Amino acid sequence: MTRERTPRGSGKNPEGNAPTAVELDGVTRTYGETVALRDVSLSVREGEFFTLVGPSGCGKTTTLRLIAGFESPTAGTIRIGGADVTGVPPESRNIGVVFQNYALFPHMTVGENVGYGLRFADPPDGKSRGERVAELLELVDLPGLQNRKPESLSGGQQQRVAIARALAPGPELLLLDEPMSALDARLRERLRLQVKRIQTELGITTVYVTHDQEEALSISDRMAVMQDGRLEQVGEPRAVYRRPDTRFVAEFVGDNNVFVGEVVGEAVADPGDGAGSTGAQLDVDVDGTRFSIATDGDPAIDPPATGSRAVFCVRPEAMEPNAAENRFDARVTGTEFLGETTRIHLEWRGRELLLRTAEPLSGDVTFGFDPDGAHLVEID
Ligand code: ATP
Repeated sequence: MTRERTPRGSGKNPEGNAPTAVELDGVTRTYGETVALRDVSLSVREGEFFTLVGPSGCGKTTTLRLIAGFESPTAGTIRIGGADVTGVPPESRNIGVVFQNYALFPHMTVGENVGYGLRFADPPDGKSRGERVAELLELVDLPGLQNRKPESLSGGQQQRVAIARALAPGPELLLLDEPMSALDARLRERLRLQVKRIQTELGITTVYVTHDQEEALSISDRMAVMQDGRLEQVGEPRAVYRRPDTRFVAEFVGDNNVFVGEVVGEAVADPGDGAGSTGAQLDVDVDGTRFSIATDGDPAIDPPATGSRAVFCVRPEAMEPNAAENRFDARVTGTEFLGETTRIHLEWRGRELLLRTAEPLSGDVTFGFDPDGAHLVEID
């Protein structure tokens, strides 16, 4: 029996060269009074590792279930490989799904569990069932474990069996819903490297759900940060980390120091100053302290009127004791030794700020940051 396949690669992604593999167009999903997703439009490119990340209840799992076909949108359209699949049942979507609780059958062997993935489809490329199971166990780094029972495997190994089962029929899309959340931190780190390797080896388009922003940063080609049923920002991990679009993203993804103040002046930096800053600078007063921040490429601030409210953020690693500008005095309220670095908690004007240093600090300290180390997230 061969499964119906949706046509591949017929969609064009306006943002990139790779064709669109999955597209959500104005998708809303409500449950009674609850709006789980609000008018979400999203494109995942072919071969991409795409992560949905956000706090509990923001709509990640709903998005994944809509793509899988376990749920239907209240409004909007879902396309896979360019074809409208909005009314197509899950078993006809050619998708592999892995859930948080790996749900292996305890009475079946590992091989039978992987083979269960072939209940609706023949193995691809004319392979026998046995050959396909062996090949997949090899792929997930569990060669020769066909005859073991799931209970004799570690949590990480069981989850890799679940991935092998989902991949068995050769799906064109892999959906992973918090596949590592039941594992301890070290196992999670190992498994995410393995998942990424498997995905890269197969080149399979993957949509991954996690609430762990660090995991999202480390594993994704692109990520969507969600809040309250909406997409806050979609982009490559580096861009999302360095240039968050909103205050929510700035605070959710990685440690950050957020300052809210009033614009008290503006200037255009000298393009020839050699400092790397060629755009505008704003002076922002935060509770009587004047900070200068570079605004190159930041949200349109035209005109950046004096008196506007400005929200900017400075990553802990951009705070330096020897910075020439934007200096302030603060008091150390706590230190966390993290091995490679120490996270320092400071109190400044009733706010908590975070720094990272090589050595622990205590007492009163002076810190500062380069204008280029600040990033403007809101101005109004
Ligand atoms: P978590 O990380 O906790 O799994 P999530 O980001 O995956 O959260 P969803 O499970 O997508 O969030 O839920 C989004 C919202 O929709 C939540 O408010 C949730 O309570 C609600 N919701 C989801 N499924 C249902 C359902 N079947 N019936 C009613 N409400 C639902």
